[in-house]
Amino acid sequence: MQTLAQFEERFSTEESCKDYIIAKRWADGVRCPRCGANERVYALKARPYHWVCKNKGCGERTGYRFSVLTGTIFQDTKVDLRIWFKIAYLMLTAKKGVSSLQVRRVLFGENSGTDWRTCWYICHRIRSAMQGDAFPIGGGPVEMDETYIGGKDRNRHWLKKSANRRAGRAPRTGLEKPGESVGYGKVGVIGAIERRGNVVARVIGDMDARTLGSFARKVTEDRVSLVMTDENPAYSHAFGQHTVHNTVHHGRGEYVRGSVHTNNIENFWSLLKRGVVGTYHRVSKDYLPLYLNEFSFSHNNRENPIEDVFGALITTCGR
Ligand SMILES: [Zn+2]
Repeated sequence: MQTLAQFEERFSTEESCKDYIIAKRWADGVRCPRCGANERVYALKARPYHWVCKNKGCGERTGYRFSVLTGTIFQDTKVDLRIWFKIAYLMLTAKKGVSSLQVRRVLFGENSGTDWRTCWYICHRIRSAMQGDAFPIGGGPVEMDETYIGGKDRNRHWLKKSANRRAGRAPRTGLEKPGESVGYGKVGVIGAIERRGNVVARVIGDMDARTLGSFARKVTEDRVSLVMTDENPAYSHAFGQHTVHNTVHHGRGEYVRGSVHTNNIENFWSLLKRGVVGTYHRVSKDYLPLYLNEFSFSHNNRENPIEDVFGALITTCGR
C-alpha cells in the first residue's frame, strides 16, 4: 500500500478496516477493553464485531458488551472508518504535517459540506494515538534544547527572554487557555534527540532549572554517554557522572565546535514550528502535545515503510 490508490483498495470497505483494527489491536486474541481479560470473552453471533465479557466484576449480570471500536480513537464516530484511515494515511505521508483544512480539501473537495471541525477532531484523535515517545533514546550522542512554540517571536532564545525579563516585558509561561490574553502566546517545549536516532519532546510550563534538569535526568538516566546543549546554566548540573556534557556558546555566536552542536534538535524545532505555527499561528498548550506526538512519531518512523507506520498507529489506537 505504497500509494493512496493502493491504500484505498486495501481498505475499500468498513469490514476491511475493522478486520485490520482487530488484527493490530488484539494480535493475541480479543481482549475486554474494560477489564483487560481475554478469557471468558465471547463473540456475539447476531452482531458482527461485538463481544461480551463474562468475567466476574466486569459489567452487570449479562456481562459487558463491547465492539471493535470501544475504547479506541474511533469510538462513537459517525464518520466511516475508510475516511479515518485515509486521513491517517495523509497525515503519515505528509512530512511537514497536514492541516485539517487540507484534509477536507483533499478528501471532500473544495465546496464540501463536511464541517472542518469534523476533520479537525479526527486529526486530533489520530495524533493522540501516535505514540511518539514510545521510541527510546539510546546511548547517544544526544542533543538537548528547549524552545518556545507560537507567538510573534517564534525563535526567541532563552538569552533574549532574560533580556526581556529585565526590561519588564517577560512573557507569561505560555500556558494560557485559548482566548485568554497571552503575552507572546508561546508554549515552552523541551526535547532531546539522539543523533541518527529518536526524538523525545514535551510541553513544559516553566523554563526554570528544575524543570529542565528533571527532564534531562529522566531522558539520559545515566545511559547516555555524551550530551550536547547550549550554555544554558540549567543543564550544567543536570547529568549524572557517567554522562559527558559538552556545550556550544550560542550567546557568543558559537554554534559548532567540531562535533559539538545542537543542529539536529534545532532542525526538529524548525520542522515543528513550520508545521504548527505555519498553519495555526497561535498554539494552545492543550493541543501542542498532540503536535509533538505527530512530529516525534514521524521523525522516529522516518525510515519505516508506510504500512508499518500505519500498522503501529492502529496498534495503539486503543490506548
Ligand atoms: Zn471485562
